Formats: sequence, C-alpha cells, structure tokens
Amino acid sequence: MSIFESPSLEKFINIPANAREILRKPEKRITINIGVWFDSKKLTVCEGYIVYHNTVRGPAKGGIRIAADVTLEETMDLAERMTLKTALTGIPFGGGKSGICLDNKNLTPYEKKEIIKEYVHLIRNELTSGNYIPAPDIGTGPREMAIIYGELHIPECVTGKPISIGGLPGRKEATGYGVAMSAIHAYNKYFKKDIKDVKVAVQGFGNVGSWAAGFLFERGAKIVAVSDFYSGIYNKEGLDIKKLNEYLKEKGKVEGFPVADKISNEELLCLSDIEILIPAAVERVINEKTAPKIKAKLIVEGANGPTTPDGDKILDEKGIIVVPDILANSGGVIGSYIEWKSSKSGSITPVSEVYKSISDLIIHSFERVSDLAQKEKLTNRNASLVLATQEVINAMNERGWI
Ligand code: NAD
Repeated sequence: MSIFESPSLEKFINIPANAREILRKPEKRITINIGVWFDSKKLTVCEGYIVYHNTVRGPAKGGIRIAADVTLEETMDLAERMTLKTALTGIPFGGGKSGICLDNKNLTPYEKKEIIKEYVHLIRNELTSGNYIPAPDIGTGPREMAIIYGELHIPECVTGKPISIGGLPGRKEATGYGVAMSAIHAYNKYFKKDIKDVKVAVQGFGNVGSWAAGFLFERGAKIVAVSDFYSGIYNKEGLDIKKLNEYLKEKGKVEGFPVADKISNEELLCLSDIEILIPAAVERVINEKTAPKIKAKLIVEGANGPTTPDGDKILDEKGIIVVPDILANSGGVIGSYIEWKSSKSGSITPVSEVYKSISDLIIHSFERVSDLAQKEKLTNRNASLVLATQEVINAMNERGWI
C-alpha cells in the first residue's frame, strides 16, 4: 500500500484530496521483458520494471536493483521512498526506481553486462531524455553504471559511475558515509555521548553496510557483528573492518572470518550487548516477530524499508529511537546530485566537498526532523514523512498540479 494511502499519515498532515489522488499511484510504470544469450546454448528471459513515482520536483531518480525477489510492487514502493527522500533533503529530483527480477548471486560480470545493455536498449528514450536517472542499488554497482554510460555517452544520464569515466570521488561510499554520520549525530544528540567504544551491529555487508561499518570503525566505534545473505559473524570485542573487507574480497562472504563466532541474521538483529543497530540489507527485517526481541537503543536505517509498520509500532512502544531510511540513507542521492551537476557542467568536485555536503545536508534534515518530532510528539519517521510530504505538496501547488 502507498504511504500516501496510510491512515496514520492522515493524523499528522492534511494532504489535499487532489494531491493524494496523484501521489497514491506512480506517474509511470514500464514493464520490460529482457532476453539475453549468456552463451550460445540458452536464452535467459527476465522481467524488469521502471517506475516514476512522482516528478513534480525534478526528474525521476533512483537505483537499479537486480535480485530474484524483485516485484513491480516493491519497485513502486522504492520509487515512492525516493520521492520522499529527495524532498526531505531538498534535492531537486523526483522519485524513480528500476527492478530486474534475476538472482544476482549467480551472475558473472559478463552476464550483468549483457542484461544492462539490453535494459538500456529497451528504455533508451527514458534515459537519453534525462527523465529517469539511474544509480546503483542491490546487485548493481559502478561497473554497471559504466556500461550504461558506454551505451549512451551522455555523462549526466547516469550517476554512480566509476571515477575514471567522470564519476564522483566519494559517490561509491556516499550512502554508507551518510549512514555513519547519521548514527554519530543521533547518538551524540540522544545519548549525549561520543561514538567511541559504542557497540554496533550491521546487517548486510554490501555497499551501504560495509562503508557505514568502515567509517564508524575509523571513528572508534566497536562493530561487534556484521552479516550478509548467508550468515552473520560476532565478536564482543569488535571486528577489524579493514581486515574483514580484505577477507570478503578473497572469500566472497563474511562467514569464516577468523576470531569471530557464526550467528544468524536474526540473532544479529536481537543482540543484547549492542547500542546501535544498522539494518543495511533488505526490506521488512524488523517486523512483529523480530521487533519485540531487539535490544539496541538506536536504529539507523541504511536499507530502504527495513521496518514494517507493525515493527515500527513495537519499537516506538519500547522507546527505541529510529533514524528512518529516507533520512539516514540519503547520502547516496546527495552524492548522485553532486555527480549529476558535475557531469552536466564538466566541473570536478573534490572528495572533501562531497563528504561535507553529505554531512551538512543530513545533519540539517536531521535537526528539522527531530525538532518537529519533539514539538508535535511524533516519531522521527512520522516527522520525516510530514516534512517530505509538505515539500511535495508545495511543489504541486507551485506547478499548478493541484
Ligand atoms: P548490496 O547488494 O551492495 O549489499 C546488500 C548486502 O545485503 C549484501 O551483503 C548481501 O549479501 C546482504 N543481503 C542480501 N539479502 C539478505 C538477507 N535476506 N538477509 C541479510 N543480508 C542480506 O546492496 P546495497 O547497495 O548495499 O543496498 C543495501 C540496502 O541499502 C538496500 O535496501 C538498498 O535499497 C539501500 N540503499 C542503497 C543505496 C546505494 O547507494 N547503494 C542508497 C540508498 C539505499
């Protein structure tokens, strides 16, 4: 169900009926059928979706996900979150997303290249017009963005490119950096303590999770547990994240990392000795089953949609503070906006400026959210939704949409 149809949002914000009619459904949904020959013997066919949720504030922006469980509904939900995320941080983009339904774990780089080339072939006009600007998400990274660039030769048509072809220094770690900054800022604010020696668990050690863990580790936090699709690892004294990154490069999974015990993904969520939990893998992991067992004091959502509405209610009742996804993981889209501007103008942006912009924008949004939450006695999630929705409604008014 669309967030804009949720009865709980109505309690906090007056959404004009015309705006709700527009926002409760995506503006555009494209379904593609991708057929590729990975070798001369077998044709692989998979479905893909490109969704524009809303473009009142700018072109549709959102990553490309390749995963076995991708659906049109999930892609619609993720596009809607992009509308809210860009609005909350004041980035002049709208909300979009792509999903390709194929198991990314078994794909070789060559196979991904073939899929992406066919994807570009099928939606070339959406991309060359600048109406939809993709970026990495689960199952895609800088290499896939480089392939899109290679097909189009228009630098601003895609973000998250490798630096060697006009990508932005700092973009690949931008989301994780923003998640780490959110965690540090929120922990200081709510618990009046520095992050040093604070115990953290990170679910999902991919792009977002590994960088978030790395930045927190650098600043002295103890990353006691991390996980990936297969399993988790735990060491109460903290894991060496630099060594873990090297191990992962070689082995392809975190399991087996020396001086750590194996734990399950659910055990990681419910660890009793952590203060901060960072879900940075997939949706709906904090739900009515897991939320009652969570002991962390602060949850910083690296993933999109890791908490269900039932899970959220339980966290609120338990007094667990949440920094919601549309705020905590907005570093990626902030980095993408800087890359897009640099690509359009041909300018070069130093990495220090990228980090500063991400940190400043996230902290500014965080302060607005927590002020409203305190004033109106809302959760941070609801305060974020109110501010972002109001921004979208204002733009609709300005453009005469409603
Ligand atoms: P990724 O593919 O690089 O990493 C995902 C990680 O989660 C991997 O370690 C994978 O093994 C693990 N994982 C997959 N399924 C799992 C499961 N069922 N249980 C536990 N772990 C599982 O993806 P990513 O880019 O790091 O994205 C992670 C989340 O962050 C997604 O929700 C994505 O939408 C969100 N996000 C990503 C970006 C970005 O810039 N990449 C930006 C904003 C939000």
